[in-house]
Amino acid sequence: MSHFLSTDFGAIATFLFGLVFGSFLNVVIYRVPRGQSVVKPRSTCPNCGTQIRAYDNIPVLSWVLLRGRCRDCGHPISARYALVELLCGFLFVSAYFYAAPVDNFVAIWTLLKLCVFFFLLIPLIFIDFEHHLLPDVLTLPGIILGLIFSLLVPVGGMPTFVIRKMLGLRWPLIAISALDALVGALVGALFIYAVGEIYFRLRHIEGMGFGDVKLMAMVGAFLGARLALLTIFTGAVLGTIFGLITTLAVWRKRIQRRQKRRESNVLSRSWRSASLMLRYYEVPFGVFLGSMAVVSVFVGNRMVNWYLGLYR
Ligand SMILES: [Zn+2]
Repeated sequence: MSHFLSTDFGAIATFLFGLVFGSFLNVVIYRVPRGQSVVKPRSTCPNCGTQIRAYDNIPVLSWVLLRGRCRDCGHPISARYALVELLCGFLFVSAYFYAAPVDNFVAIWTLLKLCVFFFLLIPLIFIDFEHHLLPDVLTLPGIILGLIFSLLVPVGGMPTFVIRKMLGLRWPLIAISALDALVGALVGALFIYAVGEIYFRLRHIEGMGFGDVKLMAMVGAFLGARLALLTIFTGAVLGTIFGLITTLAVWRKRIQRRQKRRESNVLSRSWRSASLMLRYYEVPFGVFLGSMAVVSVFVGNRMVNWYLGLYR
């Protein structure tokens, strides 16, 4: 048994698992923010209420075959369903290649850990996008799971070498890994809280809530302090750019509308109304933090090393 799974078979199987889990995540994304159970009842068409037949519930394929419509009433079914399934399949198979070759226990646990991490992040990203919510039922178990996985897969972040050097400790790898996850969770939570405070002082509206704090505690528990900080930095920058682009887009729309009506002082009046609206606009930072956490898994260490290399 040299290879627990031969590469091709393993990759395809992991992808198919991802599609199936992604299908379940669609249920999570729809029902959790509405306070409904994810286990029962079975899925129905939101328009005509007909139960979805098992053979119409095949990930991606059913959506394509039915051309994105309900079989009974023809009501359009959002492309998001197929997108979430494909994304989950794609991330699971990426985790497989990240952990490859999957022929020992650390590799299997690494694969499992990343799949669990992505399985939690995908619904958090989509729910925050749609509802501006990061439900506790996803983030709190996520923090616990991240800490548990640190006992099985070495986290490897900042404290690993900092604490070792500073204190000259000769702890076993597993204790250092657990400490890294714990410090990661604390650092992630504290830093996003601080960023939220600064943001609040600047804009006088709630930018980051406690949902983001718990999300970053989860990311820190899974990835360690180093990548949690990278996630916060890149996520906050992306979210702010998104906020600015949204402002400019609204401004442009207002200008066009006023120009059509041949009003005077079009630019300044449009700007005033756009900035007034956006004073109350909340950027869904969880979307950007979650996305950058995914990116950090694959290229985070390279990004941090590149950045630190600039100062050498
Ligand atoms: Zn229907």
